Amino acid sequence: MNADCLFCKIGAKKIPAKILHADEDVFAFEDIGPQAPTHILICPRRHFSSLNEAAPEDQAVLGKMQLVAAELARKHHLLHGYRTVINSGAGAGQTVFHLHMHLLGGREFTWPPG
Ligand code: AMP
Ligand code: ZN
Repeated sequence: MNADCLFCKIGAKKIPAKILHADEDVFAFEDIGPQAPTHILICPRRHFSSLNEAAPEDQAVLGKMQLVAAELARKHHLLHGYRTVINSGAGAGQTVFHLHMHLLGGREFTWPPG
């Protein structure tokens, strides 16, 4: 846990959030500024700031995050389609530097993304 990290504090329940999934490796919660009718953030418990800082030990948790995303998509009935996004670095729009995957659904998406 990084004492200065917003998402570490959410994972430790020191800051309130609508938690939708929690296990020993991963936690997920509703985004406070939703960009789609369903907008969930999925985080590894281990603090690392972005994919650039992912280590070989993170291989399993990175896979688990995707399985949790698919499970949450099923739970939220995102049958028509959904999008998972990891912004890596300020140039890609990352604003919170604890790795997280966005799960977005409930509306149409365009390609290429903005
Ligand atoms: P990113 O821009 O990829 O780093 O995504 C950060 C996301 O965190 C944004 O979509 C924010 O709306 C979201 N966010 C920031 N603070 C909170 C919070 N306290 N609870 C839930 N989501 C948050
Ligand atoms: Zn953190």
